[in-house]
Amino acid sequence: MIVHHPELRVLALRTPTLPPATHTNCYLLGQGALTLVDPASPYDDEQAALFEALDALIAAGERPAQVFLTHHHMDHVGAAMALKARYGLPIVAHARTAELLQGEVEIDRFLNEGDVLEVGGGGRWEVLHTPGHAGGHLVLHDTSTGAMVAGDMVAAVGTIVLAPPDGDLRLYLASLARLRDLAPTVLFPAHGDDIRDAVGLLEHYIRHRHSRTDQLRAALALGPASPMELVERVYADTIPAFIKPVAEAQVRCHLRYLVEEGEVLVGEDEVWGLT
Ligand SMILES: [Zn+2]
Repeated sequence: MIVHHPELRVLALRTPTLPPATHTNCYLLGQGALTLVDPASPYDDEQAALFEALDALIAAGERPAQVFLTHHHMDHVGAAMALKARYGLPIVAHARTAELLQGEVEIDRFLNEGDVLEVGGGGRWEVLHTPGHAGGHLVLHDTSTGAMVAGDMVAAVGTIVLAPPDGDLRLYLASLARLRDLAPTVLFPAHGDDIRDAVGLLEHYIRHRHSRTDQLRAALALGPASPMELVERVYADTIPAFIKPVAEAQVRCHLRYLVEEGEVLVGEDEVWGLT
């Protein structure tokens, strides 16, 4: 079912994303010639629902014009090639996204910081390059309303994971601060409902990352350890076992940040300790 907002329309599709999130939002930007953001589902039944919704829009006089990908993760790109095949749509994304999707999704045009994505009906979305969660992550900013299409910078359900090789805490914090300073009026995330307290949530995300870094400092103060040992020290039994590899990836990103800060060194056999 397509939900209408003043700024855009959205169709949530079930995807292989990280629980508790189960769906990824496919946003439809513009009127008439539509830009589809993150058409994500690889599942046949969900793609059929997307095609049905688009065919109904076509019958009503609109048309899909292009696919826009916020970043390369598999829970954002699953229907992109199917849409290209069915409707002949070009796919636009950052060059780093194209590099990471090579052989899977063919990007037709690159977008970068400072570009403008024009959509049907005269809408203009400014393109912001916001690395940190993914190297090629892009956010769209409608300066006339203050709305942002936020991709995976924040989520209204679940959490944002930073994982190597592209996850970078320093860049992520800088990108979050940058979005906060632009004072968006509403964030449209890839997962969950639109976020009306946009600045409050961005500040919460920044504080949360700093408190996680403090927890890691406290865990390191107990003595040098491997990333997985640090996961055990920080999270103990508070997370299920299947999440621990994800937590380990996050710990690695936070460790790299502390190395850059000069607070941590990595020794033999991947044992990390305070300097
Ligand atoms: Zn992602």
